Amino acid sequence: MTLTDASGGGRVSPARTVLVSGASIAGPAVAYWLKRYGYEVTIVEKAPAPRGGGYAIDIRGTALGVIERMGLLPWLQEVQVHVNRSTFVENDGDVVATLRPQAVTGSVAGRDLEIRRGDLTEALISTVRDDVEFIFNDFIVGMSETGHGVDVTFKSGTARTFDLVIAADGMHSHTRELVFGPEQPFHRYIGYCFAIYTMDNILDLKDEIVMWNDPGRAAAFYAAKNEVNAMLTWAQPETPFHAFGDLQAQRDLISEVYAGAGWVVPDMVAALQKADDVFFDAVAQIRMPRWTSGRLALVGDAAHAPSFLTGQGTSTALVSAYMLALSLARANGDHVAAFAAYERDTRGFVTANQDLVGTGRATLMPTTAEELRKRDDRLRSLSELPPTQGNPVHSSLVLPEPYTGR
Ligand SMILES: Cc1cc2nc3c(=O)[nH]c(=O)nc-3n(C[C@H](O)[C@H](O)[C@H](O)COP(=O)(O)OP(=O)(O)OC[C@H]3O[C@@H](n4cnc5c(N)ncnc54)[C@H](O)[C@@H]3O)c2cc1C
Repeated sequence: MTLTDASGGGRVSPARTVLVSGASIAGPAVAYWLKRYGYEVTIVEKAPAPRGGGYAIDIRGTALGVIERMGLLPWLQEVQVHVNRSTFVENDGDVVATLRPQAVTGSVAGRDLEIRRGDLTEALISTVRDDVEFIFNDFIVGMSETGHGVDVTFKSGTARTFDLVIAADGMHSHTRELVFGPEQPFHRYIGYCFAIYTMDNILDLKDEIVMWNDPGRAAAFYAAKNEVNAMLTWAQPETPFHAFGDLQAQRDLISEVYAGAGWVVPDMVAALQKADDVFFDAVAQIRMPRWTSGRLALVGDAAHAPSFLTGQGTSTALVSAYMLALSLARANGDHVAAFAAYERDTRGFVTANQDLVGTGRATLMPTTAEELRKRDDRLRSLSELPPTQGNPVHSSLVLPEPYTGR
C-alpha cells in the first residue's frame, strides 16, 4: 500500500498499520508490543469503555515474563488479590477441607499473581493509552482483503484500511466469524455452564473462597477487595444456546438446576434474580486448526480459549500476544512469514495448557457421588502437602527476548 504524504510531498513508505479488535487482555498486550516495534495501532472495543472489576484471574509461568518486560510487575503486585484460604463445605456448612488456594490452582505462592480481570485490563491499557488510537462503542462489521491491506467497515458506518487485523475479541469473537465462519466447529463444549455475579456478603467472608458441591452442581463465593462474587457452575449436557443473551432464561434455567440444593445456595439463587451484572457462559474451549488467515490473526481467547478450568486463559492470552508481535517484528512486517512463525512457536505451549482442562474439572466439578467422595478425600490429603513449585506446563515456553533489530 502506498500513502500520500500529507505534507504535500510525493509517495512515502507504507505505514505498518494494525487494527486490533478487543481491549481486554490480549488486545492491549499485543498493541503494546506492536507499538514498541514501530507499528501504528488502532484498537476498536465494542463496550463503551474498558470493562472494569470482575472475577480474579491468575498470571503464571511464562506469562509473568511478558508482564515483567512490560514494566507492569510492581503495579500488579500492588493491586493483586490476596485470597488466604479455600474452604470446601457440605450441605449443612460443615467443612470438608480448608486449603491454601494454591493447592487447588497449582499457583506458586509469592510468585504468581492473582488479579481482578478489570485491574489487569486497566494496567495493560495504561501502557498504550497515549500511543494507540482507541475507538470505543464500535466494532467491525465487514472486512475485505485486497492485495495491499484490509478494507474494514465498522458498525458506526466508518470505513478504513489497515495492513493487518488482529482479533482479540474473546471466545465468541465476531471478527473471527467474519473470516473463519461460525464458532461451532471450533467450540469444544466441556459440559458445564457458569454464572458469576456480585452479591451481598451474607457469610461475612474476607479474602477467601468458599465452595459447595453436590454431584454436577457447584456454588462458590469469592470474597476479595471488599467485594463478593457468587459463582454457580453446573453440568449441562448440551450448550443452552437459548439462554445466551436472555437474562430471564438464564435465571429460569439456574432456578431449575439448583432446585433443592443445600447450604446457602437458595440465597444465592434468590440474589441472582436481582443481580444486574450476571456473566453467564458455557465452559468451553476454542480449538482451531489455524489461527491466521490472509491478513487476519487471532490472539488470546479468540484463538485458543482454554476455559477457566485450566486457570490459564489470561496467561496464554498474554503469551500469544507477545509471540505474535515478536514474530511480526522479526519478519519485518512480512505477515506471511510472521504468522507461520507465530503458529509454529506458540501452539505447543497453548495446546499443553488447554490440555490441563481435565485436572481442573476433577477438582471443581465432580459429577457423581463417587467422584465427589474421592475428590473430598483428595482435598483432605492436599491440606497437608507442602507448597508446590507450580505446574511445569505453565512455564513450558521459554520466552524469547524482545526484538531489537539485530
Ligand atoms: C469465570 C472465569 C474465571 C476465569 N479465571 C481465570 C483464571 O483464574 N486464570 C486465567 O488465566 N484466566 C481465567 N479466565 C479466563 C480469562 O478471563 C480469559 O482467558 C482472558 O480474559 C482472555 O482475554 P482476551 O483478551 O483474549 O479475551 P476477553 O477477556 O474475553 O476480551 C475480549 C474483549 O473484546 C471485546 N469484544 C467482544 N466482541 C467484540 C467485537 N465484536 N468487537 C470489538 N470488541 C469486542 C470485549 O468487550 C472484551 O473487552 C477466567 C474466565 C472466566 C470466565
